[in-house]
Amino acid sequence: AKQEGLTCFKFFNPELRQVLERDLLIEQGLRLCIENQELFVYYQPKVHVAEHKLYGVEALLRWKHPQLGFVSPAAFIPIAEEAGMIHALGDWVLESVCQQLRRWDEEGIEVGTASMNVSLKQLEHMDYKDRVLSTLERYSIHPSRLELEITESIAMCDQEHILHTLNELHEQGLKLSMDDFGTGYASLSYITLYPLNTIKIDRTFVEATTVSDQIKLIDMIISMTHQLGLEVIAEGVETVEQMEYLQARQCVLMQGYLFSKPLPANEFIIWLHQYEAQ
Ligand code: C2E
Ligand code: CA
Ligand code: CA
Ligand code: CA
Repeated sequence: AKQEGLTCFKFFNPELRQVLERDLLIEQGLRLCIENQELFVYYQPKVHVAEHKLYGVEALLRWKHPQLGFVSPAAFIPIAEEAGMIHALGDWVLESVCQQLRRWDEEGIEVGTASMNVSLKQLEHMDYKDRVLSTLERYSIHPSRLELEITESIAMCDQEHILHTLNELHEQGLKLSMDDFGTGYASLSYITLYPLNTIKIDRTFVEATTVSDQIKLIDMIISMTHQLGLEVIAEGVETVEQMEYLQARQCVLMQGYLFSKPLPANEFIIWLHQYEAQ
């Protein structure tokens, strides 16, 4: 049916046709990407700027498509969610991250907490909690070493089940962070509803450290997290000016190209040695 749809579009909108063909290629490719070993996890450091120390890592999924090359997760994650394949991808990421943490443990390398992005669709799944806990157990990793990054979209669906899942994972020691904070349309009340440890200031606010109104927003977010007793981390830090601005506002946890891009595990360790030697 999708093929027919594409031929209809062909005559009046070649651009749209290209997008649809690409999406179709992505959707078809996703079905084989695990089997064909086309997935990788990259790690981006989170640093404690004041102490010049590694605070943790964020795991980011990478997919090398045989024809398209590296496809951005921003492009394929929504398609995977629609096509019901996000569960398999999420499980694969969970497994890889646990495996990597185990390996680093054995090598005596301390990376702190590893965070993973989790979509709403994954949390809706009945087994999610058990899958996370059993995978951690299989690799002998304490739940407090893992953090889930969720987005504000979670506040839009008032699902008892999701709240229950998150509470139970939190009780087991898992950390929870609110990603892309300030970009959603949710009311603020959900912040106290979920068992959050950390708020992640979205890159768009960090970029705007020179625009006065946006600066007020960053200041507000930071002071709010301090008042609520939550950790605050800024993402997308690219310049020294941004770093200094945030640090002056007592936001000392940061992540961004200024420190490092997301890297394959082995390159990340090389980066870490260099960073620690500085
Ligand atoms: P996100 O969770 O907000 O991740 C941050 C994105 O910003 C990453 O893009 C990262 O590479 C990029 N980034 C980091 N530092 C900088 C910086 O200083 N400047 C700029 N311009 N960008 C920076 P990436 O890896 O392409 O991921 C895009 C999005 O895809 C993620 O946004 C996340 O929502 C989603 N995603 C990635 N991996 C997974 C996954 O395993 N599961 C799920 N459900 N979503 C994932
Ligand atoms: Ca994230
Ligand atoms: Ca983010
Ligand atoms: Ca973001």
